[in-house]
Amino acid sequence: MSVRWGLIGASTIARQFMINAIRAQTDGEVAAVMSSSTERAEAYARENGIPAAVSTVEALLNSDIDAVYISTTNELHLDQGMAAIKAGKHVLCEKPLALTSADARKMVAAARQAGIVFGTNHHLRNAGAHRAMREAIAAGRIGKPIAARVFHSVFLPENLQGWRISRPEAGGGVVLDITVHDADTLRFVLGDDPAEVSAFTQSGGMAGSGLEDGAMCIWRFKSGVIAQSHEGFTTKYAGTGFEVHGTDGSLIAANVMTQKPVGSVLLRTASGEEELNFDREDLYARSVRQFHAAIRDEGQPAATGEDGIWSLASAEAALQSSKTGKAVAIDPQLGSIA
Ligand code: NDP
Repeated sequence: MSVRWGLIGASTIARQFMINAIRAQTDGEVAAVMSSSTERAEAYARENGIPAAVSTVEALLNSDIDAVYISTTNELHLDQGMAAIKAGKHVLCEKPLALTSADARKMVAAARQAGIVFGTNHHLRNAGAHRAMREAIAAGRIGKPIAARVFHSVFLPENLQGWRISRPEAGGGVVLDITVHDADTLRFVLGDDPAEVSAFTQSGGMAGSGLEDGAMCIWRFKSGVIAQSHEGFTTKYAGTGFEVHGTDGSLIAANVMTQKPVGSVLLRTASGEEELNFDREDLYARSVRQFHAAIRDEGQPAATGEDGIWSLASAEAALQSSKTGKAVAIDPQLGSIA
């Protein structure tokens, strides 16, 4: 039986990646799209070959769909997610799940109670590069992990220079946009949770309205690993990367903080250097595939609701630290929903 998806939000990410990812499944269909504007919904449906276009969440939820993908601006995720859960639809929600981790917890708890599948669309967990690093660490190939460095400062493309750099009320700013991904990828690759963070942010010339467009964070993980991450909208030539350094080796990945299945991972140890092979499946297609499996009761989404709470709480702590100038502890219980 195929999974019929309703898109909440006529967004760029759905157009560029998620519609194709759903259609890449043997059992996936994009049945309808909802935009707050009837005109935009219809134009989007026409351009993307989607059979139905609606302009309210209620109309979408009353149509013949099994699951929703939420990719509106961030302040809308909570109410739209709650409505979908109430209607008994499975939910794949974009990050950040909400504007606060307390709201994200409410949504994830409601999903748990309703018995529907709820996932967070942290695409980087689906990258072969990150999975190869996680496996190498778990297999002890770098010994005991000591430190990690994440290079994730990019240049925000002109077509995305809208709410992210101008609307605090919509959850703009680089921390809610990119730091959430870095917190999640660090958790995934290290198999560990952050215990505290210290952060500096900047407004480096692109973002207005008091929003930050650059951030540097220092994290301490429960195991004692320390990590640094750099997120930005303003650096055109920096490139991206992810490194983990251990007692017996280092993993050095280049060009891997991206939406495409590209990049390289190098393992350096006393025996020399080895390029790790990894699969090059589309990140978003893998995310949807795993979500469909979860609907069939075969495992969990690649990133669960709890993972989405963790990443948002981590970003929240980073923002708080940037304001207070002090390291902020992250509640070790926050990811667990009873
Ligand atoms: P967009 O700005 O493309 O879309 C967000 C909303 O803006 C849409 O829902 C739409 O509202 C409105 N909108 C879009 N185009 C127009 C327009 N021309 N005129 C007026 N309104 C418009 O956002 P993104 O696709 O970049 O991001 C959406 C969400 O996805 C965010 O939560 C973001 O954090 C997340 N994201 C996640 C990524 C990932 O890899 N996991 C990557 C990129 C984004 P309406 O639906 O009412 O028409």
